[in-house]
Amino acid sequence: MRIVVLKFGGTSVGTIKKIKKTAEIIANYKKKKYKVIVVSSAMSGVTNELIKKSSEISENFSSSEYDVLVSSGEQMACSLLAGRLIHKGFKARSWLSWQIPIITLGKHKNSRINEINKKKIIKYLKEGGTPIITGFQGINNESRITTIGRGGSDASAIMIAKFFKAERCIIYTDVEGIYTTDPNKFKKAKKIKIISYEEMLEMASLGAKVMQPVSIQDARLNRIDIEVKSSFIKKSGTLITKRSNIISNKIVTGISSTQNDSKVSLIGVRDKPGVAAAIFKPLSKNLINVDMVVQNISANGKETDLTFTIKAEDLNKTKKIIENNKNIRFRKLLLKKDVSKISIIGVGMITTPGVTFKMFQTLAKNRINIQVISTSEIKISVLIDKKNTKKALIALHKEFELGRTK
Ligand code: ADP
Ligand code: ASP
Ligand code: MG
Repeated sequence: MRIVVLKFGGTSVGTIKKIKKTAEIIANYKKKKYKVIVVSSAMSGVTNELIKKSSEISENFSSSEYDVLVSSGEQMACSLLAGRLIHKGFKARSWLSWQIPIITLGKHKNSRINEINKKKIIKYLKEGGTPIITGFQGINNESRITTIGRGGSDASAIMIAKFFKAERCIIYTDVEGIYTTDPNKFKKAKKIKIISYEEMLEMASLGAKVMQPVSIQDARLNRIDIEVKSSFIKKSGTLITKRSNIISNKIVTGISSTQNDSKVSLIGVRDKPGVAAAIFKPLSKNLINVDMVVQNISANGKETDLTFTIKAEDLNKTKKIIENNKNIRFRKLLLKKDVSKISIIGVGMITTPGVTFKMFQTLAKNRINIQVISTSEIKISVLIDKKNTKKALIALHKEFELGRTK
């Protein structure tokens, strides 16, 4: 069976007009004699609305009920899409995750797809049907509905492609593919024809919302090629694939930035073993994700300063936890909200010396102060004032020649 998995994001099913357009795209694949499995997200804005409602009911809304509530957006979109295909004369129906079922592991709000029962869907495909499957959700081994993290329909599509051994997995979205940086923030961003899983994973984890990071991990593990393209414009998109398929002469492939980071500095912390652990243990217990960390060398061997970043929404909670932590002593606690992390990403860095210097020099020339640095083999991230994000992005895009076509 030649199976193709087509995933449509929130903007592709955001209005009735767009749902009708999406049905056209699906119909075209049917004409090419593919067996088509569709995965849909909720209409854009719906998931956010549902989350807002839950927080208005309770600040500590039950996480199992959260999953029941927020997964309902996909149900609505899938039924509208199936309805349109039926209207056009196709055999189609919506499939909710529990009807298949799609089995997940892990905690509510953040589960992972572990298994998909293929039987009913294969039978339905053989009968000529087009299943429209709800993305972003599954059920756990207690038959409770689960969700798999924001943007999770991408991971649903990739896992469905894996289990059904799809020939192609295509992610339809509101941009033409993966760009050197967010094309909605910087008009000179260039579409990337082909990108490795590793680079895409870094770009997504460091702020490029276009693909959910977990979905890229799943694709890499299972060697699933992903095509990303536009629902609205008929043009070739981006292929996300393994590194050995790519020949590139670029040092940097893309730039990502974040908007919602905060910086926490503890000034005058005792410089002795175990202090960092005493600071971070209660944070991790409270599920606060610490990102960049820097500790200054102490001048007198007794005291040091420790700085780290967290998500802005965790700032108040972090402040309370640190102030109430009886196991640590410090002179001052500084909190800063308006910071942004900007990262350059590229496998070309591994073999090219001097990339770090070039990045820092570019920022210095533009009078942008670097507050925290973190690096990995294929990325360099710096924390800067939020107001400088666009300026940094433009300068780095130019310095690393990302506007140049290969
Ligand atoms: P969908 O609803 O299809 O899942 P998303 O809103 O999750 O779409 O992701 C698409 C958005 O990702 C684009 O509108 C774009 O603004 C943003 N984006 C961020 N970084 C990039 C990038 N490097 N390339 C393409 N799009 C990006
Ligand atoms: N509707 C979900 C969300 O908004 C899943 C997705 O868009 O992929 O997070
Ligand atoms: Mg998305």
